[in-house]
Amino acid sequence: MKKVSILVPCYNEEKSLPLLYPELKSLMDGNPGYEWEVLFVNDGSRDGTLDIIKGLRACDARINYIDLTRNFGKENAMLAGFDYVKGDCMVILDADLQDPPSLIPRMLDYWEQGYDDVYAKRESRGSESWLRRMFSLAFYRILDYSTRFDVLRNVGDFRLLDRCCINAIKCLRESERYTKGMFCWIGYRKKEIVFDRGDRVAGDSKWNFWSLLNLAVEGITSFTIAPLRIATVAGGIIAFGSFMLMIFYTAKTIIFGDDARGFTTIVVAILLMGGIQLVALGILGEYIGRIFNETKKRPIYLARCYNETKL
Ligand code: UDP
Ligand code: MG
Repeated sequence: MKKVSILVPCYNEEKSLPLLYPELKSLMDGNPGYEWEVLFVNDGSRDGTLDIIKGLRACDARINYIDLTRNFGKENAMLAGFDYVKGDCMVILDADLQDPPSLIPRMLDYWEQGYDDVYAKRESRGSESWLRRMFSLAFYRILDYSTRFDVLRNVGDFRLLDRCCINAIKCLRESERYTKGMFCWIGYRKKEIVFDRGDRVAGDSKWNFWSLLNLAVEGITSFTIAPLRIATVAGGIIAFGSFMLMIFYTAKTIIFGDDARGFTTIVVAILLMGGIQLVALGILGEYIGRIFNETKKRPIYLARCYNETKL
């Protein structure tokens, strides 16, 4: 019998889990043709999440869990999941029921037809602010223009992955993770299904503006060096422009004489150049910082235990 794993990263989800479990249970009981496993990754929750997971495991042997030593973030928590799932395929599911488990049978159908990565594309994004929409659009634009592989829009982590994809992702052990990009980067046969993403059932989203901006910078810096090239190109254009201006003003001074005006021009030019240099330095810094983090070769997460086994 084929084994299907469901991976649920959880951070402070004590309110959502009691609502999620019945849905998972009816899904698993309704599809006895597969052997099921649910793997909860407790990403350092500060509330009763772990106790709830333990309670669920006590009455349902299909449930496994990993307890991370602190909050490592969803991206890292997912890698922990990839390392420990046992299924022939896996589905990544948010704990807050924004990803409807009712879609999983359709995903399994496509998997049986031979697709390796069945991802759910959201038709609506639930209630999100206008600013958040704009930023996500700009972000996808940048990635689209600068990478070789297709970056899928409005696609989250909710997807079914065949064992071959799981193994591929397990090989990508960079510490600055942008998993959504990795799913695109690995390739394999992909299939899209569309769904409406609702709002979370309970608790609060863990994302605020800064953490989203951070994720966007992560996405860009881990998949493209285009910003560095933009800095180079901008530098080139400005240098060329300044050179032409220099020739123009020198000629003007020689022909018409020097009347020592142009204070504003000088100040503006200095400030402009200074600003551009700082931006370019900042971009360089982003990449160097990432190189620094990557060279430390630290483990991406630390786990305290897998089920009852201490690690
Ligand atoms: N999550 C996690 N670690 C974190 C933040 C979030 O494991 O540091 C989990 C969270 O419990 C949920 C999923 O990631 O299952 C998605 O989180 P959330 O609903 O806050 O994100 P959104 O739906 O707003 O993208
Ligand atoms: Mg959510």
